[in-house]
Amino acid sequence: MKSSSTNGLLAQQNYLIPITPRPELCFLRGEGHYLFDQHDKRYLDWIQGWAVNTLGHSAEVMQQALIKQSAQLINPSPAFYNQPMLTLAERLCEHSRFDQVFFTNSGAEANEGAIKLARKWGQKHKQGAYKIITFDHSFHGRTLATMSATGKAAFTPLFEPKVSGFTKVAYNDLAATAAAIDEQTVAIMLELIQGEAGVIPADAEFVAGLDALCKQHNVLLIVDEVQTGIGRTGSLFAYQQYQAQPHIMTLGKGLGGGVPIAAMLIDKAVSCFDYGDQGGTYNGNPLVCAVSAAVLGEVLTEGFLAQVNRVSDYFCQQLASLADTFALGATRGKGLLLAINTAEVSAPRIVELAREAGLLLNAPREDTLRFMPALTLTENEVDEGIAILTQVLRALTEE
Ligand SMILES: *Cc1c(COP(=O)(O)O)cnc(C)c1O
Repeated sequence: MKSSSTNGLLAQQNYLIPITPRPELCFLRGEGHYLFDQHDKRYLDWIQGWAVNTLGHSAEVMQQALIKQSAQLINPSPAFYNQPMLTLAERLCEHSRFDQVFFTNSGAEANEGAIKLARKWGQKHKQGAYKIITFDHSFHGRTLATMSATGKAAFTPLFEPKVSGFTKVAYNDLAATAAAIDEQTVAIMLELIQGEAGVIPADAEFVAGLDALCKQHNVLLIVDEVQTGIGRTGSLFAYQQYQAQPHIMTLGKGLGGGVPIAAMLIDKAVSCFDYGDQGGTYNGNPLVCAVSAAVLGEVLTEGFLAQVNRVSDYFCQQLASLADTFALGATRGKGLLLAINTAEVSAPRIVELAREAGLLLNAPREDTLRFMPALTLTENEVDEGIAILTQVLRALTEE
């Protein structure tokens, strides 16, 4: 039975600008791999804030970091250094090939920064070159420039005129990319696994080829690791599994483990912002930097990523046997950014029935289910989720 406060919650939805269809649910609390709704129904969560909650819901280390930092210092203004900002920047650079960091509040803002930096570099070092090659079906965010960079067909007619200067090329097509480079090209920007497109990995030869093209034509390589970064693909960063030396990397999502922080990391050779070119009121505030440092600390713990890879293997085996039983398609992805092709079965319908049965999933396409659980996943939760999926698929295929 709905309580009156619950009716209140659902009536209050009219006060929000509608931006997406949402089920009649309001989550009241989260614990690790689980969410609890207004009826205290429990859900196994394989969305996790949209590949955001690296350590699951309300992890103890995040709570502690929030409590400690909020008592100490929340916002001294971005015009001053603060300790968590310095610590986090140093740690990110120590564990990557990059030298400098600019913190932002969202992945889109980090990518916006990467676009600005590339254009600035083009003005300073490449006779005003400004064009950026991006890829079909890519996703880089929802600011006007990042929507313009995005290769999602549904974005094409929106908010015209877009920001110009983005050349779209077929993903994993090296020859087409090479052909698209001209005098005005300043950068190539890609996701190493296209997440929103349905978990489509870049081929090893493609990325190695892009890296070579960039070197040959004095073009910057930008990797958008907003979804793939911070252990999601089984290494701290996805580029580490490729033969590539990107000049710029953007992070978001898993970096904060649930709190709003993102970042642009750069090779110091391309550092060229003048004072005033870039900034933001909340950028690098100590509250979110302290939480992010705590999250990163966990991911860097000995054995953490090895366990991500072990449970990923187990998950893939279970998906393969599910595919056998119900005539589904192939499994894609790396680490704990996985997807399965559902062939004839409607993926959005699976999502709906799974939610009713207590499992939260995402269907980025009609025929694709995406899995983005917390990186602390164990074989037990895999078994629990697969059991629910089995039950849902049995009901759907017997319809
Ligand atoms: C989610 C995402 C973004 C946008 O991040 P926001 O924090 O939503 O602005 C950009 N790029 C990729 C690859 C993403 O997955």
